[in-house]
Order: sequence, then C-alpha cells, then structure tokens
Amino acid sequence: MKIFIAADMEGATGVVHHDQLMPEGRGYAAAQRLLTGDVNAAIEGVLRADPLATFVVGDGHGPMRNIILEELHSAAELVIGSGKPSNKPLCQLEGIDSTFDAAFMIGYHSMSGTPSGLLAHTYIGSVVREWRLNSIAVGEVQMNAAVLGSFGVPVALVVGNSDLGPEIAAWDSRVAFVATKRTLGPTAGVCLTPSRTRILISHAAAHVVTNLGASFLYDVGHARIEVEMYRREQCDKASMEHGITKIGDSTIVAESDNAADAFRLAWRACTRALDEAPAWLA
Ligand SMILES: [Zn+2]
Repeated sequence: MKIFIAADMEGATGVVHHDQLMPEGRGYAAAQRLLTGDVNAAIEGVLRADPLATFVVGDGHGPMRNIILEELHSAAELVIGSGKPSNKPLCQLEGIDSTFDAAFMIGYHSMSGTPSGLLAHTYIGSVVREWRLNSIAVGEVQMNAAVLGSFGVPVALVVGNSDLGPEIAAWDSRVAFVATKRTLGPTAGVCLTPSRTRILISHAAAHVVTNLGASFLYDVGHARIEVEMYRREQCDKASMEHGITKIGDSTIVAESDNAADAFRLAWRACTRALDEAPAWLA
C-alpha cells in the first residue's frame, strides 16, 4: 500500500496562533515537532494494518520546510522545499501520481471567510478572499481532493481544526475526519495533548486503510476555478498569467478538463499576485 500524506500546519496538534507558523515565531520550533508527531501517528497507524506500506509526505505549509526529517518515520520520504510554481506546480500535492492507493491531509484548517475559523484561509491568506471550484466555494481540503481525484487517488482521512469538520461534512460525509482541537476563534482553541491526538490519528489511519474501498474518490472532471482576490492590483497581476481570464475587477478564472491542470494554472497566477509592488510605492 502506498499513501500520500499532505501536511499543513494550522490544524496540527497545539497550533492556534501565527506565532507558531513561521520560522521567526517563538512557537515555531515546538509546532514543527507537533506536526511531525501528527504525521508519524498516521504512518504508525497505517503500518499496523499493513507493515509493508510506504509513504510520501508533502510538507505543504508556508516555507514548506517544517517537518523535521530526522524525526520522521523511516517508512516515509519527504517532499521538501518552497512552493513556488517552478518547484511545485501542484503546491501541497507535488509528488502525487496515480500509483498511490489513497491520500491523507493532516494539519488542515477551514476556508477563507469561515466565521471564527481557526487560522482560516485558502492557500494564500493575503490574496484569496474566496476560491471556487465549479461555482462552489471550497477550501484547501476540497480543492486538493479534486486534484487528487484527477490522479485517481481517493481521500481517506483528514486531520485538523474542529471548524473544518462542518466544511467537510457539507461537501461529503464519507471523508473520515479527526479534530486535533476545538476551535474557539481565529487564534484560540481547546487543544488535546499530543499523546491524545496521536492515539486518535493512528486509530483513524489504521481504520481507514483497512477499508480503503470506502474512501472517497472526488473526480470532478472538467474544472473551472475562480479565485476572488482581495485587491484589484493582485487580480491585475495574476491575470497576466497566460491562460487566465478575468471576471470583473477582482476574480481570475483558470479552467481545464481536469482539476490538476486547472489548479496548476491557478497556482501560477496566485503566486504572481504576490509579486506586486507595495501600495506605498505605486
Ligand atoms: Zn498552512
């Protein structure tokens, strides 16, 4: 059995604040260990069900150099390095292909605009107001699931903040979900200890892979991604990417006959939006 694990950080055990999310933050080093522990728990759970399972873990948060390689389970390989499109056209999912039996998403959070969502955003917090897939507002979990689906890889398990639960349930209740904490607000939650979440995660992982036929393949076929951005200048920059069209002042459209190609185009465009000169220099 071969499992792809996409790892984000905002939904990892104990993570509730920006101070824990970037290398300059005081809580970052501890958060790296917490995230690595969550990923290892999932791997250990799968290995109980299938001792020969192998794993590719995609480090998909911020600098994408968060997971501690020397502490990662030896059954895994780690995709590490910046998410710029020249490195990782599929962003958090770079390394995926059709040979995987299933995917997990660990450390995840709710979509941009979720009321009181804990560290809620969609891919680039400073740019994306709303990300829509085939006219439906989606977060990273559902969008990533569509990309995985275009490779024929089902989503078996999602782990993250409790406010992500309703977002997933509204999409498809077949996706197994484990909450690492109960969300209180944008930067606070009631956290379970790592010793507790690791048991929950490893149990869930063992359970889902013993019944992989029930995991959810989300193949949308033709994919139209609309990304509504916060600022007109961001949209102007993003829409310079070849293949992008624009709706109104603030929304770009990336479209293809499969979700992976539509995502690659949208991701290139969104990263271009970051290159704008600061407003005070305009
Ligand atoms: Zn993140």
